[in-house]
Amino acid sequence: MGRRILFLGPPGGGKGTQAKMVRRALGVPHVSTGDMLREAMASGSDLGRQAETYVSVGDLVPDELVVALVEERLAREDAAGGYLLDGFPRNLPQAEALAEVLGDEALDTIVYLDVDEEEIIARLLKRAELEGRADDNEETIRHRLEVFHGETEPLIAYYGDRVRRVDGTGSVEDIYCRIALELAS
Ligand code: AMP
Repeated sequence: MGRRILFLGPPGGGKGTQAKMVRRALGVPHVSTGDMLREAMASGSDLGRQAETYVSVGDLVPDELVVALVEERLAREDAAGGYLLDGFPRNLPQAEALAEVLGDEALDTIVYLDVDEEEIIARLLKRAELEGRADDNEETIRHRLEVFHGETEPLIAYYGDRVRRVDGTGSVEDIYCRIALELAS
């Protein structure tokens, strides 16, 4: 069994960017629920239509939909040698569901990308301009941050001393080096 990594952090904290770099380095699949939901929405599938009402306003998609999506993804052959989870679990019930399905072995390293609020808002507004993601407008950004504080942040306490806190500010390369050090230790 290869590495089983979780990236935790606020929206706009750089999880996706860093996850793609780590995936290239380690050769494990990058499992991003945000990407999977955006794909489902783009394809117009049932799941996509259900997800859209939540994603467009920055709410979390119901746990049962997301848990089923991840369960199916992690059961595929390419995830047998490890994976990098990005954006899941995002609340306590999802973390409990993951532990139930895969046990304590589900994760070997939890990286928390620490970025302060002002920087996050600035980054997300910039991404809104560059990528035109529908959920990157100021109102939705503020709501996603509230959801992060209310629902996702408690996972830091839930995972306790298994969490490696990494300074998520600075250049993409600097942040990557900090993560690589944590993954090596
Ligand atoms: P992300 O790209 O990870 O920032 O996710 C974008 C949006 O997808 C979020 O604001 C949620 O609406 C939805 N989403 C992504 N991951 C999850 C998850 N694990 N649980 C519920 N909703 C999610």
